Amino acid sequence: MSQESVLVVGSIAFDDLEMPQGTFDGVLGGAATYSSLAASVLAPVRVVGVVGDDFPDAHLELLRSRGVDTAGIERAHGKTFRWRGRYSKDLASRTTLDTQLNVFADFRPKIPGSYKTSPYVLLGNIHPALQLDVVRQIGRPRLIAADTMNFWISGEPKALAELLKTVDLLIINDEEVRELTGIQNLCKAATDILQRGPSELIVKRGEHGALLFDAHGTFFVPAYPLEEVNDPTGAGDSFAGGLLGYLARTSGAATSPHTMRRAMFYAAAMGSFCVEEIGPARLQRLTLEELGKRLESFRRLVDFGGSLALD
Ligand code: AMP
Repeated sequence: MSQESVLVVGSIAFDDLEMPQGTFDGVLGGAATYSSLAASVLAPVRVVGVVGDDFPDAHLELLRSRGVDTAGIERAHGKTFRWRGRYSKDLASRTTLDTQLNVFADFRPKIPGSYKTSPYVLLGNIHPALQLDVVRQIGRPRLIAADTMNFWISGEPKALAELLKTVDLLIINDEEVRELTGIQNLCKAATDILQRGPSELIVKRGEHGALLFDAHGTFFVPAYPLEEVNDPTGAGDSFAGGLLGYLARTSGAATSPHTMRRAMFYAAAMGSFCVEEIGPARLQRLTLEELGKRLESFRRLVDFGGSLALD
């Protein structure tokens, strides 16, 4: 395996999931958890986050067993961040019922010295000022990717604008793109975002796939069609983890348009594994061989024989 590593910063949580098939309380969650587990299938991962004294050592051991360095996870006095969500019957939408920040409220990411050389950095969805603080701590990696959410887009537009000047890749969903730009048309909105700092934009569209916009044009990867979808929680974070894991493994970075485009398939494949089971259960036992098989089915899914020319 390549020694290039991925640094992930973000939430580590207990999730209470109200699904059509039942309620699952206290499931291991958080954006950093999903991203780390996904990336770790492909590359070494270092994670920075915070947990409370109620967080079981077994969860940290699980991350370590998957090749995730957990030395950057701070254990603070108090309770772990907790999120409760309810999904619609078709799993296409969800409502946040409760967010208890707990120890996450005072989270100030401290990047350990040994992590500062990680060439691939994923800034999970936290306050943009904290994301910016991480950027200042790490210097200049090969690629900085960031996620954000509506809450920060509407509440912290200035800090977010500053952050955007420093990141290479922004990974958000279509609603967030529209809210960030005030532009309904995704292509026009993407052009607007690419003028604000990032050289790459990925727009996640859930079961409708994901779009990549960069200087080489627009690229689309579908969501892998599955018969068994149980829990979409963390799919976006797994997508981002899979993307950076692939880039780290191949050291391609954003400078190679084809590497980025191939990475989109690894990202979507990782998202597809994530949704198969409740919480990160499927990801935490995913093997490279299984990932390889799904990538091969993915290739067949989009293989049309090579040319669209009329003859
Ligand atoms: P996703 O389904 O990709 O949006 O990610 C869901 C994960 O994000 C869950 O495991 C939650 O614990 C976590 N999460 C929910 N709300 C927040 C928040 N406000 N800040 C950070 N992480 C959150």
